[in-house]
Amino acid sequence: MAETVFAKIIRGEIPARIEHDDDLCLAFHDVAPQAPVHVLVIPKRPIESLAGVAADDAALLGHLVVVATQVARRLGLDSGYRLVVNCGPDGGQSVDHLHVHVLGGRRLGWPPG
Ligand code: AMP
Repeated sequence: MAETVFAKIIRGEIPARIEHDDDLCLAFHDVAPQAPVHVLVIPKRPIESLAGVAADDAALLGHLVVVATQVARRLGLDSGYRLVVNCGPDGGQSVDHLHVHVLGGRRLGWPPG
C-alpha cells in the first residue's frame, strides 16, 4: 500500500485539527470541508479501502462508527448528520486510507452526486 497523507497525519508529520485520538483511530477536521462540520475518522492501521476489509476487521470498523457518533454528539450535530465511506474510483475515494466522513451542520441533499 502506498504511503498516504493520512499516514503522515497519524505520525504528526503534517498538521491536522484533531478531534479524537486513541490506540485504534484518529479523527480530524477535513481540510476542504463540504459542510459546516466535516470530520474524518481513520484507523491508525492502514487499510486501503472498504474493498480491503476482512472479517476480523469487524471490531475496528465498529469502533470507527462509534467514535464518529461521539464526535457528532460532541460537535452538536443534534438534528442529524451523515456518515460516508467512499470506496474506489466509482465511489469517489481520493485518499487510499480507509476513512469515515462525518458530515453535518446543514441539511444534506439526497441522492449524492
Ligand atoms: P475521499 O474523497 O472520500 O477519499 O476523501 C478524502 C478526504 O480527505 C477529502 O475530503 C479531502 O478534503 C481530505 N483531505 C485530504 N488531505 C487532507 C489533509 N491534509 N487534512 C485533512 N483532510 C484532508
